[in-house]
Amino acid sequence: MISQKYGWPRISTGDIFREAAEAGDERGLMIKARIDRGLLVDDHIVISLVKARIEREDCQHGYIWDGFPRTINQAEESLKWCKEGDQQLAFFIDITDQAILQRLTARRTCHECHSVFNGHNREYPKDGLCPKCRIPLIQRDDDKKEVISKRLEVYHSTTEPLLRYYKGMEYFYKVDGSGDPDTLFKKICDIIEAA
Ligand SMILES: [Zn+2]
Repeated sequence: MISQKYGWPRISTGDIFREAAEAGDERGLMIKARIDRGLLVDDHIVISLVKARIEREDCQHGYIWDGFPRTINQAEESLKWCKEGDQQLAFFIDITDQAILQRLTARRTCHECHSVFNGHNREYPKDGLCPKCRIPLIQRDDDKKEVISKRLEVYHSTTEPLLRYYKGMEYFYKVDGSGDPDTLFKKICDIIEAA
């Protein structure tokens, strides 16, 4: 929604990893093995993939990172990519583990066009098929309960230090993510527009 409103491409590390994994080369296989087990991909791989992505033409007037940076090392590296006059905002969407687990295990994906649907939503296709590709929606391996529990565990040990790192930054915002998506969207837009 934010990407559409402001015209900034959304760069999801999850999408970048899946794209790299599909290449099927040695690096791709390694990435797949990590994400299927709920583990973090090595810092230097994440950094080089994200950096290559923001150098593309569509990122010249801004972009949104989703799922990056995940470690302090990634955060510090990404600061070096900022050009003079660039403005940065960092958001932390605060939701409980229970809510994350509920949300992610309900997620179904089309393996053809990568559209994502939430099984709890009214818009979820009643026939269980992707409206565009007409093939069954599936649960990705990394959205299964065991894997998400592992992801949460990794998250608490690796990403929480990052939160402490960002806390002192004036461009850091912690936003309550427990409400509905529209409320969250509005809160974020208000911060962007005030910045
Ligand atoms: Zn599809």
